[in-house]
Amino acid sequence: MTELSTQLSTLRGVGKPTLEKLARLNIHNVEDLLLHLPLRYQDRTKVYPIAEVSNGQEALVAGKVIKTMVVMRGRRMLLTHIQDTSGTMVMRMFNFSMAQKNTLRQNVKIRCFGEMRFNGSTREMIHPEYSFVRAHESADTPQSLSYMPVYPLTEGLGQHTVRNLTDRALMWLSDPEHDFEDLLPEQSPSEFRDLSLKEALKYIHRPPADADIDLLLEGRHVMQQRLAFEELLARSLSLQRLRMQMRKHSAPVIKKRNLFTKLEDSLPFKLTSAQQRVITDIRGDIEKPSPMMRLVQGDVGSGKTLVATAALLDAADSGYQAALMAPTEILAEQHYRNLESWLESSGVKIVLLVSKQKVAERRRILRHIEQGETQVVVGTHALFQKGVVFRKLALVVVDEQHRFGVHQRLSLKEKGAQGNERPHQLIMTATPIPRSLAMTVYGDLDYSVVDELPPGRKPVQTAIISGDRRLEILERVRKMCTEGHQCYWICPLVEESESLQYSTVTDTHKMIQKQLSQLNVGVIHGRMKLEEKEAVMTAFKSGEIHILVATTVIEVGVDVPTASVLIIENAERFGLSQLHQLRGRVGRSETQGSCILMYQSPLSPRARQRLEIMRRTTDGFEIAREDLSMRGAGEIIGTRQTGESQFKIAGLLRDPQYIEQAKKLSSVMVEKDPEHTGRLIERWVGETERYGEV
Ligand code: ADP
Ligand code: MG
Repeated sequence: MTELSTQLSTLRGVGKPTLEKLARLNIHNVEDLLLHLPLRYQDRTKVYPIAEVSNGQEALVAGKVIKTMVVMRGRRMLLTHIQDTSGTMVMRMFNFSMAQKNTLRQNVKIRCFGEMRFNGSTREMIHPEYSFVRAHESADTPQSLSYMPVYPLTEGLGQHTVRNLTDRALMWLSDPEHDFEDLLPEQSPSEFRDLSLKEALKYIHRPPADADIDLLLEGRHVMQQRLAFEELLARSLSLQRLRMQMRKHSAPVIKKRNLFTKLEDSLPFKLTSAQQRVITDIRGDIEKPSPMMRLVQGDVGSGKTLVATAALLDAADSGYQAALMAPTEILAEQHYRNLESWLESSGVKIVLLVSKQKVAERRRILRHIEQGETQVVVGTHALFQKGVVFRKLALVVVDEQHRFGVHQRLSLKEKGAQGNERPHQLIMTATPIPRSLAMTVYGDLDYSVVDELPPGRKPVQTAIISGDRRLEILERVRKMCTEGHQCYWICPLVEESESLQYSTVTDTHKMIQKQLSQLNVGVIHGRMKLEEKEAVMTAFKSGEIHILVATTVIEVGVDVPTASVLIIENAERFGLSQLHQLRGRVGRSETQGSCILMYQSPLSPRARQRLEIMRRTTDGFEIAREDLSMRGAGEIIGTRQTGESQFKIAGLLRDPQYIEQAKKLSSVMVEKDPEHTGRLIERWVGETERYGEV
């Protein structure tokens, strides 16, 4: 164990299942946990009378339960009526257990925190956080009043648990025996010099009741900025160090282009000029004997796969191996199928490598890769596991990079290392960030944009419709499917638990199949085996399945051009950029695509405003901008935010003045002080950099 990291097991009550979930959030030690910072805060410094909370306001209320019942209104739900001295409200829940129902007995006193919505003359909160007021307590005992931090979560790890965990980490931190070293160099901006790391962390995790909450919510509090600066510095150092290391290396020269030319001739369409331009950029890099590090950005549907394919084929053509990595199995499988059909008569051998393959099959695949018999390897992160040895890897393409994080991908170079030689790297992303920002985030990476959609694409038409009109929507879907359209039906996010998510998907599937019994309804989710997923996707592609009920597993990259209708349930729960990605699944051909954003009625004014942005525009840049500017008070429960969430605290748009300073400082430090550089990188980027060496 290095002095910079303390095992999570030193905190009491952190078992193996929790460790695994924390790992998904990139939290591997106590220090990581301390650097897992709140996205925002909820004001619970006051208990509001129910009648005084306005529509759309988030507030803490308290009262006693009058009655609780399960009702069917399109969906099964639990309604709990609550009363205080000022009035009554309803707590409405869709995901609940019978045990939960039984605890909400008449006369029990509870506190609820959530968003108040006016539903006709009824006030209600949907899925508020609630807790019981114990007999000897009053609803506003001081320990229940505070600015509550809201943390980024992952499936199966709820807000409550993460708060508990950070409580314990903060206890650990307050022990004078434990140190969390201050690493900000002296040349940092003067406003941070007297702020210790310990002090800043305590403040940000648990702001005192007299904190300036507006500053905190905007991410402009000096305590936050102190951390943000340290992070920006570390990220900048990491990129510069990687680039510096790369410059020392040579790379294979890739010059042949016949295979791709043949493929191009056989395609039913012409490459767009943007595709051609980016391919030219890439070829300019890979024909040189030093490693390419290029980022290709292009909105959903701009045809990035073909751009990558040009590079992959050039590498194979020149006698080397090339790898393409995708963030999900479904996407890896799709790329594999495409390449396979494109390369059918070329003699190029291509293989799929994912983690769930059978042992014997895996062994055979690995042997072929090692012996160089396979030229193109498509896979998930399984590509980086031990035991995957390439014979002459010359190019690595990472698709949908925003789903991985740029740093971990850049370190992937070690995989194909041969003496001083390293493979070329091509990183593709749909995350729309403006060019100037991209330059700073991605440091010294070279950068190309596919800024044109293939001709004939029509913007997807988007409607915002209440979930109460589900039957109408089903009827519309039925009609469209009988006219030959195909449809995705996306189930709501359930962040509290994986099994609830699973039952939501299966219930929705059953419901739709029952309502539309004349149609073929399929289902796909993360828990299915690879072969099952493959079979479903194949049936959907062939048109055999009309409606595909899915979780967000299909969110990135999935390309079924014949699918033209997309329904998203509880759209108000998703982040805008996530909705944009999902919507990118339709409108991928000349057929008009349509998208229905279903919401749980009543919709708060703010949530409506967000969904309206989706209706107004299909431009990824604009959506990302609006998403960022509307965050802060955010209602998004989606755990993944947009691309810049790779940052723990330095929200890019919030700290532009520090980006430049951090960059300047880092260019001096990286050469002069490698030891200090290493420690900063380990603290802020650590695990992701190590990832490449697994
Ligand atoms: P993305 O940039 O989102 O990864 P894809 O590479 O999946 O986009 O391409 C989207 C769809 O557009 C695919 O079905 C692909 O075959 C098609 N496509 C790609 N390039 C062109 C083009 N120049 N003209 C017409 N269709 C194209
Ligand atoms: Mg793609």
